[in-house]
Amino acid sequence: MLAAVRSAVLEGVDGRIVTVEVHVSRGLPGYTVVGLPDAAGRESRERVRAALLSSGLEYPQQRVTVNLAPASVRKTGAGLELAVALALTCAAGGLPSGSLDHVGVLGELGLDGSVRPVIGAVAIVDALARAGVDNIIVPAANAAEAMLVPGATIRVARTLGELHACLKGEAPWPDPPDPPHVAFDAPEPDEPLDLADVLGLEDARRALTVAAAGAHHLLMVGSPGVGKTILARRLPTIMAPLDADEALEVMKIHSAAGTHRGRALRTDAPFRQPHHSASMVSLIGGGSARVRPGEVSLAHRGALFLDELPEFPVHALEALRQPLEERVVRVSRASGTIEFPAHFLLVACANPCPCGRNAVECRCSDVQRSRYARRLSAPLLDRFDLRIRVEQTGRERGLSSEEVAGRVAVAVERQHARLLGTPWRRNAHIPAGALRHLIPLDDDARNAWTGLCQVRRLTGRGAARVLRVARTVADLDDRAHVGAGDVERAAWMREDLW
Ligand SMILES: [Zn+2]
Repeated sequence: MLAAVRSAVLEGVDGRIVTVEVHVSRGLPGYTVVGLPDAAGRESRERVRAALLSSGLEYPQQRVTVNLAPASVRKTGAGLELAVALALTCAAGGLPSGSLDHVGVLGELGLDGSVRPVIGAVAIVDALARAGVDNIIVPAANAAEAMLVPGATIRVARTLGELHACLKGEAPWPDPPDPPHVAFDAPEPDEPLDLADVLGLEDARRALTVAAAGAHHLLMVGSPGVGKTILARRLPTIMAPLDADEALEVMKIHSAAGTHRGRALRTDAPFRQPHHSASMVSLIGGGSARVRPGEVSLAHRGALFLDELPEFPVHALEALRQPLEERVVRVSRASGTIEFPAHFLLVACANPCPCGRNAVECRCSDVQRSRYARRLSAPLLDRFDLRIRVEQTGRERGLSSEEVAGRVAVAVERQHARLLGTPWRRNAHIPAGALRHLIPLDDDARNAWTGLCQVRRLTGRGAARVLRVARTVADLDDRAHVGAGDVERAAWMREDLW
């Protein structure tokens, strides 16, 4: 007898449909898996057998062949075990034939027959729903996140025995859990942060506002203790919330990474702050056994904050260039290339020298300073739209986070209206080829721009970045046209730091 059921496995942050076929035939009892399974797949035989027996179900004393198709998809983890157990039971006659026809299944099995959660349930359920699977059986612990996927009817599985009874029509399906908690705000921080706490630093506050509004990468250089880190940590308090599509994109990535955020649909923009001792893989993504998204992807649609940027390993900094430019991370595997989205805003801080002392106590030589600065390559520095020197000026109190967030929201709305129907969402995303069309300049502004580009000897890339920032400056003031003053302000915020 042959039975088949659909499931899916995680590949990058997306689900790939896998059909689990089980054939039970006369012959010497045996168990063969074909279709490129990894070690976990092979080990699954013992768990499937133990789970069936502890659930009071039959394990056929016959020849069992499990085929995981298509063979080209690499199957990692044990998330196909529940599908194997159900198809096996069906092939052995323990379930009516056809009972798995319109069903999708995901879940690992415990030896006692319990159904255990899988990593990346959102992406897997999403793939099954897109493939037109009507009923998707998910482990109870994954039910809340699975229910956030539009277009899927979720059936909850707690144990293999209970699931078997439901599929035979002998027991009602367990009630789905309460609608999951949809958190529209970030969880309350331990200490509430507000921009108004930062005294002085007016230029840096303005640059941070421009960064948040237009998704411009920002580098702040200043002596230790000047307040740049305190400022950067307040970025989440002024960023615009995610829309529904973005929130689901972010949740899919976090679900694939197994982070806490992957268990709820949140509309606050992600904010990631890895330490400079973080490994290359944890920063960029990759890994040997299971390919995971890195910090740059966990910051997707939000911000990545790298404090003390020159302290990061040089090879990690250079590896950042590609996702900064292409907004995607590509990890090459024997089985093909896996892509992770990495649409993030980079905010970085750097001390001017390696000693970590303030300007008065610092005794670093010019050679030491320039050696430190050289850790940040010219191509990396060029990718920052905003580069500012942070110096303590005055102690006056500025706008609160709430007030700044209001201005940012207006600017974001203007950008959404302008970029409607394009693949881009913020000014920083507009490719060079579309600038002339999307950011028209009058003669005054154009003269100011070309003049500044010559005086500052900007590269083509640098000139384009000034233009995008100028557009954001005007958007923050809710103005339709970019003026010469906006271009000048944008150029001021792109300093040559070393
Ligand atoms: Zn120093």
